[in-house]
Amino acid sequence: MTDAVLVVNSGSTSLKFGAYTTGKEATLLCRGVVDSMSTDPHFVAKEPDGKPLDAHEWGEGQVLHHKAALNYIIGWLEQHEANIKVVAAGHRVVLGGTRFDGPVVITPEVLDYLDGLSVMEPSHQAFNVRGARAIAEDFPGLPQVAVFDSSFHRTMPDVAQIYPLPKAARDTGVRHWGYHGISYDYISRQVPKVAPEARRVIVGHLGGGASVCAMLDGKSIETSMAFAGLTGLPMATRSGDVPADVIFYLLRTKAYTSETLEKALYGDSGLLGLSGTSSDMRVLQASPDADAKLAVDYFVYALVKFIGAYTALLGGLDALVFTAGIGENSAIVRAAVLERLDWLGLKLDAAANAANGPRISTADSKVAAFVIPTNEELMIAQHTLDLVSSV
Ligand code: ADP
Repeated sequence: MTDAVLVVNSGSTSLKFGAYTTGKEATLLCRGVVDSMSTDPHFVAKEPDGKPLDAHEWGEGQVLHHKAALNYIIGWLEQHEANIKVVAAGHRVVLGGTRFDGPVVITPEVLDYLDGLSVMEPSHQAFNVRGARAIAEDFPGLPQVAVFDSSFHRTMPDVAQIYPLPKAARDTGVRHWGYHGISYDYISRQVPKVAPEARRVIVGHLGGGASVCAMLDGKSIETSMAFAGLTGLPMATRSGDVPADVIFYLLRTKAYTSETLEKALYGDSGLLGLSGTSSDMRVLQASPDADAKLAVDYFVYALVKFIGAYTALLGGLDALVFTAGIGENSAIVRAAVLERLDWLGLKLDAAANAANGPRISTADSKVAAFVIPTNEELMIAQHTLDLVSSV
């Protein structure tokens, strides 16, 4: 049997997992997902190179709770050909609040604190906690670690962590949390390998969810995804920045209720809202439709706006990094962004960009630009191993 760390990303209706070795450098053994848990649950597992390992279906109309899904995954890892013994679990948890500026060993009291934050971040937090609680109940001796998306941004200056609201509103606990921190943590460790001199770095984590982070010496000083993952850049279906007075107008005129508006802002906006047809950058780029083009243009426009603002905050820019689904794969978006940043001294290497990097700026470009694939799962495995072996 091979000892392994189980990395868990527990969402509302899907549960992604990866099993990693426990050696000094965690390496992937296999990964998989239980999907459509509330409608048509099905399990797939794959080898590290993506080759299918196994699959299982519970049948349409069945409902699989997080507990049952995790029991199935752990049982499968131990009993099937993978023959893996889970010796620790690491969870992706989006929000660590003011208390956690780094990963933490999970206790019942930690879970209660994290659950208490769900009211601030309704899309992921409660489901992340549910996964950890399920394992705590059914595998009580198994050490567990929570790794947070918000922790990386606790290095932001105080002025960047507040909103200009009355004290009574700020006293409710509202803060500029920031997300995608597990990805930014990983990227901050890769940048010195490709650009050892770079101190002022902007990273675009551009996936289904998208944000930008300004880093000084590898530490976050500002980021665009603010409080509950809705704002900043336009995303696949999330709006990005929309002024609060627009929100009030839509409510005042009864075009929406607060419930339907929240649903629209999270689920029907962003690339999908602008194009009216797709939330997928691949589809939009390939479409001749004017609204699809508008969606891509808006995404690039917003990105350039954030990069400009963050360059000012950093007092200049040494390196720009693209990561996640769009960042790693869309030569079109990267080229459009770099073209508009020519004034900054960014010169695109078109051939390297077409090949998805790693360096996509020319040798004489004053600012370097890179494509660096992110690996949030590995980061969680590594942090889990570090904490579990130190207790
Ligand atoms: P998530 O945030 O859901 O983890 P990813 O980081 O995997 O998402 O990014 C998913 C997005 O990446 C897709 O919605 C798609 O728009 C985009 N994407 C993937 N491949 C390409 C590609 N070749 N060209 C442009 N966009 C791509």
